[in-house]
Amino acid sequence: MNNKKRRTGTLIAIQDSLVKARFYDDVIMGETAEISVDGKLLQAEVLQIEPDPKNADAGLVEMQVFEDLTGAQIGDEVVFKGTPLSVLLGPGLLTSIWDGLQNPLYKLGETDPYLQPGMTAPALDIEKLWDFTPTAKVGDVVSGGDTIGWVPEGRFEHKVLVPFDYGKCRVDSIIEKSSINITEVVAVVIDELEQRHELKMAFRQAVKSPIPFKERAIPSETISTGVRVIDLLAPVGYGGTVGNPGPFGAGKTVLQHALCKYAVADIIIMAACGERAGEAVEVFKDFAELDDPSTGESLMNRMCIFGNTSSMPVAAREASVFIALTVGEYYRYQGFNVVMLADSTSRWAQALRERSGRQGDIPGPEAFPMDIPDQIKGMYQRAGADAGTGGSLTFIGTVSPAGGNFQEPVTQATMDATGGFWGLSQDRADAKKYPAIDPLAYTSSVYDSFISWKDRQTMLQTLHEANGIDQTISTIGLKKVPVEKYILFQKGLTIDFCVLQQNAFHKVDACTRPDRLHVINEAVQKLIDGSIQFAHNGMEDEEVKEMIKSKFDELRQWWRDWNGVAQSEEEIAVLPGKIEQFILQEDSAL
Ligand code: ADP
Ligand code: MG
Repeated sequence: MNNKKRRTGTLIAIQDSLVKARFYDDVIMGETAEISVDGKLLQAEVLQIEPDPKNADAGLVEMQVFEDLTGAQIGDEVVFKGTPLSVLLGPGLLTSIWDGLQNPLYKLGETDPYLQPGMTAPALDIEKLWDFTPTAKVGDVVSGGDTIGWVPEGRFEHKVLVPFDYGKCRVDSIIEKSSINITEVVAVVIDELEQRHELKMAFRQAVKSPIPFKERAIPSETISTGVRVIDLLAPVGYGGTVGNPGPFGAGKTVLQHALCKYAVADIIIMAACGERAGEAVEVFKDFAELDDPSTGESLMNRMCIFGNTSSMPVAAREASVFIALTVGEYYRYQGFNVVMLADSTSRWAQALRERSGRQGDIPGPEAFPMDIPDQIKGMYQRAGADAGTGGSLTFIGTVSPAGGNFQEPVTQATMDATGGFWGLSQDRADAKKYPAIDPLAYTSSVYDSFISWKDRQTMLQTLHEANGIDQTISTIGLKKVPVEKYILFQKGLTIDFCVLQQNAFHKVDACTRPDRLHVINEAVQKLIDGSIQFAHNGMEDEEVKEMIKSKFDELRQWWRDWNGVAQSEEEIAVLPGKIEQFILQEDSAL
């Protein structure tokens, strides 16, 4: 798509972020363009091309503009760039914080604290020096995706790749081990048509078509997210996909931040898409100061953030998700385990809705475009494990359905597209049962847990039965419930209170690793299996239940304390023994 000739057009219509322009040269579908407004260049993308009914020599293009069009006028010049929407890939991606178009937010902030339309800065630091070590040599035959060298990027070995759209080439020259920046040429390659190409450490990559897999594989290894209810009952594997819907305030953002901190992955990419600006800024400040609990380094060393807040134009939200996905695919191709978090995909879908509405498309349910399920599927399909590179890209997207209605199109399409689903419930959030993931409603997962399928089912079954008994108690009263059912109810309550609920802000409780999870599961299974003989000589039924409740209360209090305190292997190991004692009622035997 490289066309050296300057091709231009002029604006003939402006409607919010959609504009029309007349042109006389060729224009390519999907190419980007810049609109000059008061000396600034605003980024846009060609959506549609049609003949000009008023002028046989001309054509009309419809474009969406990613930046605020205030001040734009009919007659403003459009320059077509000949390249599709793309992202700059190379060393320095990690630790970066950009807006939705990969403009670095902090760099821009240095010149002006508020982002202005048309402001751009290099996406990656062009002055920073990297220690390049060549791995290819003169005469080697390489093609797109092949490694020609590497640089250390923090604690990672960042491979320098041949751009993915290259065919077979011969290495004509390559530099020695040296310290260079991303604007310098590292190698010259000659393609099969004898054309010379200069390769640098960074290159642009189109974002709307995926970077290929070497050998796509089914996600098989479970990610330790640190969140108990997820890792036990709704796990996610490396390369998996999860939809995380929840009503406003149910804890989607807190959960995403917990995953940023505790999910075991090489790299975390966060696309903060259309969330409240203040919240996004808070995250950036926080993460820069937080330490990665597994390395002690700054959390940002394994992260990059696209901060596309609700104050930025809607069209940029769509771009940001594709850009973030492409960065994720790039690191997967290098063999890393990448987790991408998007908060929220509903904001992204709203951008699609707005665009298709303005384009006059026939709307589907709730005015979303008819093909919204395919678009959502297409986005999640870019996640996956790659057996060829050993890398993976896991995609966890929040969904914020209006009024918490999971029947709406984006939630439904996400449920169809993803292997895991974490449904946050309003009731649980209202009761401050955090994280508010409800394992009995909507929550599901096709991935392997850290515990056996049988244990997972047993735990769910107990929670189901306890929930049923709870319903019975509230409809017909405690009296009618037999003692053994009441004990089952208390067991469910204990699992919920001590295992599913977890304080994201407590330094010990916030993160549970698999070794501890196994101990917890052992305790849970013992509790479920144990037939507890409470001594109740001559007591009334009601008194017995009261005594049972107070004994379970005591156990729950003890277990909660254990959640927050036990850290050493010995301290952790006491839990199953404590449950055994409880079942035997040893300390209270008559
Ligand atoms: P959402 O993004 O779904 O609108 P938030 O993630 O912003 O909701 O959560 C709203 C509030 O709920 C938080 O500010 C916090 O007080 C509380 N909260 C959510 N999850 C947890 C948690 N795991 N532990 C403790 N508090 C939580
Ligand atoms: Mg939120």
